[in-house]
Amino acid sequence: MVGTSLRYSKTDNVPSNSTAQLPSRPQSNPIPSFWTSQPQPLDDHRSTPTLPPSASIVIIGGGFSGIATAYHLLNTPNPPSIVLLEARKICSGATAMYGLSAAAELASFEAVNVYAVKELVEKEGLREECEFQVTRAVDVYLDEAHARQTEEAYRELMGCGGVDMRDIAFVSRKDAEKVSGVKGAHCAFSFTAAHLWPLKFIHGLLRQLLTKGPNVQANTPVTSISPAPDAHGNWTVHTPRGSISTPKVIYATNAYTCALLPSYARAITPIRGFCSHIAAPRGSPAPHLVNTYARSYDYLIPRTDGSIVVGGARQRFWHAPEHWFGTVRDDKVIDEAVSYFDGYMQRHFRGWEDSGAKTENVWTGILGYSADYMPHVGCVPGKPGQFVIAAFNGHGMPQILLSTKGLAKMVGKGVPFEETGMPRIFKTTKERIDRKDSPLEESFR
Ligand SMILES: Cc1cc2nc3c(=O)[nH]c(=O)nc-3n(C[C@H](O)[C@H](O)[C@H](O)COP(=O)(O)OP(=O)(O)OC[C@H]3O[C@@H](n4cnc5c(N)ncnc54)[C@H](O)[C@@H]3O)c2cc1C
Repeated sequence: MVGTSLRYSKTDNVPSNSTAQLPSRPQSNPIPSFWTSQPQPLDDHRSTPTLPPSASIVIIGGGFSGIATAYHLLNTPNPPSIVLLEARKICSGATAMYGLSAAAELASFEAVNVYAVKELVEKEGLREECEFQVTRAVDVYLDEAHARQTEEAYRELMGCGGVDMRDIAFVSRKDAEKVSGVKGAHCAFSFTAAHLWPLKFIHGLLRQLLTKGPNVQANTPVTSISPAPDAHGNWTVHTPRGSISTPKVIYATNAYTCALLPSYARAITPIRGFCSHIAAPRGSPAPHLVNTYARSYDYLIPRTDGSIVVGGARQRFWHAPEHWFGTVRDDKVIDEAVSYFDGYMQRHFRGWEDSGAKTENVWTGILGYSADYMPHVGCVPGKPGQFVIAAFNGHGMPQILLSTKGLAKMVGKGVPFEETGMPRIFKTTKERIDRKDSPLEESFR
């Protein structure tokens, strides 16, 4: 049976029932990905040689969530003093492991988020650096029954008039294969999306951010936070390089949240994902793909040089949760996932049969999944002055930027969650943390 006993997998050598040894902090030696192949000048940035003894706000985590929260907090009059602590290199977690593809799901919040990212990229002059492009995402349905259900749901939504469907284009079975290029397509939907190079985007943002004076410390894992605040309402954040006293802590720790906040052990689980980079040789007859694609459990992000980043392979390892559930092992890949990508484009895309395309690289990354598939954002229950923004369920890009904007209002100005513009279902609550059932675990029973 798959249950909480698998939460901390054998690969981590962690007993299943011990909160003292939760799946813990980021591994020190993640395998490099296509996206992390180029070193960045701020990878190991430390604003000061030692940690300051105190700060108005300590942010834990230097991925998209942590850096963007700092960005919003500092782009205000009288910005607070912020220390941002990152366990490894800057942006070495999930954010570094994929190429953004943003969808118009969760209706208007996500659709608006695509344009919010575009606006920020342009405002900060990062468009060329992070290769930002607005494009179309094409979701392809291969299973006949699933395609029929999805089409029915689409028509129902069109009929009810409550959701803005203007950007969504439906392609029926007759044309699905030709329009998408995906063999065996029963139907497809397309909608506005964007893609960029997340690592370069985050580093560009950090560069701008550093002019506003935050203290950023790479390679500084937080080991614990005091269980209670002191008489002045300050928490103590402990690291191997010293401690910091602060009235406000933000956990932007994604998959690793429960190592510091054990109350989230059941609510947020580290899940291992796999990605590959596939390229055809020069002169190959392979058609140049311009959209991003979702195909079954896989997704594809074409590059301007004609190569493709393909993520997924879930069919190969989903039956064996010890490979992917509750593990933070991003220092090795598994053979089943690696071989899945061989000949992928030839098998599944029209016109690629004789392309000679080959897998150049396969890597793994750790995603934060919540038991109910919704992110946890807001005040940590029972810990005044502590906030969390984590668990975007492999779907952070269409949600993080506006969520960090909302969280910054809560932290910086005391605005209640309900007035931040974030979807109510994102709010972290005691009820969500304590719930006994887990749609996530049920999905693979
Ligand atoms: C293989 C893969 C494919 C993906 N594909 C997509 C996709 O197609 N579309 C999409 O929208 N999303 C995708 N995602 C998900 C996306 O990456 C995340 O939603 C997003 O990057 C989360 O950003 P984050 O800042 O919240 O977390 P992260 O980028 O994981 O950042 C958390 C940071 O916290 C640091 N940290 C944790 N604990 C500590 C500690 N104790 N002390 C100090 N620092 C700590 C970590 O080192 C890490 O850098 C994918 C993720 C992976 C791994």
